[in-house]
Amino acid sequence: MGKPELDTMEHCACSSVSVTARGRVLSMLVCSCLDCRKATGTGHSGIAIMRREDVKISGKTRHFDRLADSGAWICRHFCPVCGTPVFATTTRSPTLVLLPVGLFDNPNWFAPTQAIFSRTHLHWDTLPEGIPQYQNYRPQ
Ligand SMILES: [Zn+2]
Ligand SMILES: [Zn+2]
Repeated sequence: MGKPELDTMEHCACSSVSVTARGRVLSMLVCSCLDCRKATGTGHSGIAIMRREDVKISGKTRHFDRLADSGAWICRHFCPVCGTPVFATTTRSPTLVLLPVGLFDNPNWFAPTQAIFSRTHLHWDTLPEGIPQYQNYRPQ
């Protein structure tokens, strides 16, 4: 399947923050790291990765910076009113932005091609079948 091309505006639960995404999704993955589990409140996150210049945020966000196992910083932005996770950035790939798929009203285009941090994956949590699973990050 090809990489989806987005042209959409999405909102947090209270609509204080909106995200306009115009451009190609570069990669799609699910992540079972402990940090994603905390941030989503469930077993794994679904993430669409886009170029920073293709994503515009309007409205105020708050963020929380965390040092990942890899040594990179991950900065998670969320709506300060309703707490919806809005986007994240990482010092590992400073030109990219990570969008939580749950932010989108209709992410029918989402088709993850890899599962990362499977070392902390929970057995009861279902992952898409047949995609490669990596213990940590995917090899670069
Ligand atoms: Zn909100
Ligand atoms: Zn993660």
